[in-house]
Amino acid sequence: MTGPKGERFCTRCASASSASSGRPHATPTNGTPRLRSLRSVWCGTYHGFHPKQGGSMTKDTTDSEPESAADADEPTAARDRSATSTDLDFDTVLDDEEESQGLFDDLLASEPIFENKEVLRPSYTPHELPHRNDQINRMATILVSALRGDTPSNILIYGKTGTGKTASAKFVSQELESTSQKYDVPCEVEYINCEVTDTQYRVLAQLANKFIEKNEARIESKIERLETVRDRFQSTDTPSDPTGEPDDTDEEIRSLAAEYDDVAAVDDEIDELEADLAELDPVPMTGWPTDRVYSTFFEAVDYHERVVVIMLDEIDKLVEKSGDDTLYNLSRMNSELTNSRISIMGISNDLKFTDFLDPRVKSSLGEEEIVFPPYDATQLRDILQHRADVAFKSEALTSDVIPLCAAFAAQEHGDARRALDLLRTAGELAERSQADLIEETHVRQAQDKIELDRVVEVVRTLPTQSKIVLFSIILLEKNGVHNINTGEVFNIYKRLCEEIDADVLTQRRVTDLISELDMLGIVNAVVVSKGRYGRTKEMNLSVPIDETEAVLLSDSRLGDIENVQPFVQARFDND
Ligand code: ADP
Ligand code: MG
Repeated sequence: MTGPKGERFCTRCASASSASSGRPHATPTNGTPRLRSLRSVWCGTYHGFHPKQGGSMTKDTTDSEPESAADADEPTAARDRSATSTDLDFDTVLDDEEESQGLFDDLLASEPIFENKEVLRPSYTPHELPHRNDQINRMATILVSALRGDTPSNILIYGKTGTGKTASAKFVSQELESTSQKYDVPCEVEYINCEVTDTQYRVLAQLANKFIEKNEARIESKIERLETVRDRFQSTDTPSDPTGEPDDTDEEIRSLAAEYDDVAAVDDEIDELEADLAELDPVPMTGWPTDRVYSTFFEAVDYHERVVVIMLDEIDKLVEKSGDDTLYNLSRMNSELTNSRISIMGISNDLKFTDFLDPRVKSSLGEEEIVFPPYDATQLRDILQHRADVAFKSEALTSDVIPLCAAFAAQEHGDARRALDLLRTAGELAERSQADLIEETHVRQAQDKIELDRVVEVVRTLPTQSKIVLFSIILLEKNGVHNINTGEVFNIYKRLCEEIDADVLTQRRVTDLISELDMLGIVNAVVVSKGRYGRTKEMNLSVPIDETEAVLLSDSRLGDIENVQPFVQARFDND
């Protein structure tokens, strides 16, 4: 790959590099000559974490450095791949054309917009959380008991999506754990995302296994220390007093040794610990009776003295999917635990989810409640600005970009995730169009793109019957029917079901499915009165018709629905 001035560029990082000093990435040290013709150039830097990823190609003239150990494996991998790819003859492919055909050159030549895109991704945990001080301080005030060896009250956190609940809870838990290590108090935090881990079995199994793992590590380290003690007992001339060795500087080992009278006592303890270790039996992901999983978790957590904070994020999903048994069992554990105490922190997007809880669970879980209100546009601007400073090159944004992202996201119930997605997508769109600046139009395009992605995702995950109902509405719209009524939808729906061999639901169920599509924002339905003929629903599609149709047709469960269209068409033609 060559740059404007004829210099060659590292294929990984776009750094200019002298081909003679840099080593080709894909050329194995002792590998096949065939791959050498790939003409890759190596700037000499290990790229697992190259600071210049997506960086400027105009100036960087990184000198070749000695090959790092981490890079040493790479040629082997390249050679292995070449050994298996017998179909492709790189020599022929590449010798035809001396240089690349410029597939990437234009993209690399434009001035990059992002400095560090990761900062805008949902997986990034920010170190600063503006406008969440109150909530973070309240959590800390409640959880500080854990550092004093007391059981903190259970906490319930509420707030709509994107209001910073997860980010704040994770921040607080990191602080709690690091402070507990600093002061050497046994306090642990376990985080579980109940959207993923959504049954009682899985929650308890995951907790049990985490504690089993921690217990194992603890036991193994104790055994190791005891073995050192035993060695000292055995090597000293005065076995009855191994603590008195003048050159014994290891304070910890000495104080541990002081707990034992003789080597036999140490051996006994090691045997006991090894027996404990052998008993630790991880819970399989399915198959055990729930009672057994529960008691395994119980024993694992109670193995030694500690305060445990269990964070159940998206707790509403757990209750929705599997009821409140898990919470009931967890919340009454403290009365039976001997050594340890647990405290539960539940995080919910749904403000009403406690309505579905057993009153005992509700009162125990909600000892303390913290609300995360939606951000307003000004707060979102601050949050975006903080991230933008790190994420983008300076001067990469026009001044209206952040306010517009903030305004769009504020309309969307003050969702910081949406604001960050908008900003990142706007940046990506600008980058793709090789613009030097992110401008208002990119934000508007990003808004449309995200909205369309959302629709596609919602439609894609609809149950099959809802998809057939939606397809009926689309067919009606495509045939110019406006203000479609339930009866019309039902007629087409029935016909479609017969053609593709699907069960036919009653008109009443179909009306329910239409209401669900309405709630999801896919159709817009209004109830209209037909005088003495009663009432009916009239609806229109509120999503882009072609994209929605394409998503429906990509579902294999809908079989040949596309080929059914002519029948429906014929029906209109006959009308
Ligand atoms: P929730 O759990 O309430 O749905 P998250 O904590 O996941 O929301 O936040 C959504 C996104 O917004 C995350 O990327 C998070 O880092 C970011 N975010 C939320 N609040 C703030 C804040 N006050 N400061 C910085 N980033 C924030
Ligand atoms: Mg969350």
